[in-house]
Amino acid sequence: MKACTKCKTGEVMSLTCPWCNKCKAAYMRHRYQTEPKRRKALNAKARAYYKAERKRLLAQKVVYGKKVAERDKARRRDRYKTDPAFKAKTNASTKRYYESKPHMFRARDAKRRADQVLATPAWSDLKTIRMIYADARRLTNETGIRHEVDHLIPIKGLKVSGLHVPHNLRVIPMTDNRKKFNRFIEDIV
Ligand SMILES: [Zn+2]
Repeated sequence: MKACTKCKTGEVMSLTCPWCNKCKAAYMRHRYQTEPKRRKALNAKARAYYKAERKRLLAQKVVYGKKVAERDKARRRDRYKTDPAFKAKTNASTKRYYESKPHMFRARDAKRRADQVLATPAWSDLKTIRMIYADARRLTNETGIRHEVDHLIPIKGLKVSGLHVPHNLRVIPMTDNRKKFNRFIEDIV
């Protein structure tokens, strides 16, 4: 390791400058503060750069924000599974939320029904669909485990949207369905 010639302790990272990064930054900061002309030029350069690259920088920010949000969500989901105290706290807060804003849930359910209507083409076989729903009811009664009708391709997918037609439906136990689509609880944790 080559020691910085200024502070004698920092490590020199550059081949062209005998100072460590900290000393270099301090020197640059000092110049920025004491040389108005230089400061003006640097600011103008930064502004021009931002103006030219604004769109790209903002898009980058959005992508990064989404990544962070997804990472945090995954962490909460894992914690929900492994940490009973966190699970209890989450459930309590969901309950509080539900009780304070029942209209939010009602609106969500209404939206889901409306989406289902929109996703039902005229040619959809309603008789078969009714039989699939009856099947879910029958399985619930027979097994004591609540079963639901699940859309294989979600009706409101992010990239593609499925239809409310028999071949896009299947009967599954409710917990599985919730795991797949009802991300609501995780969303408000
Ligand atoms: Zn140094």
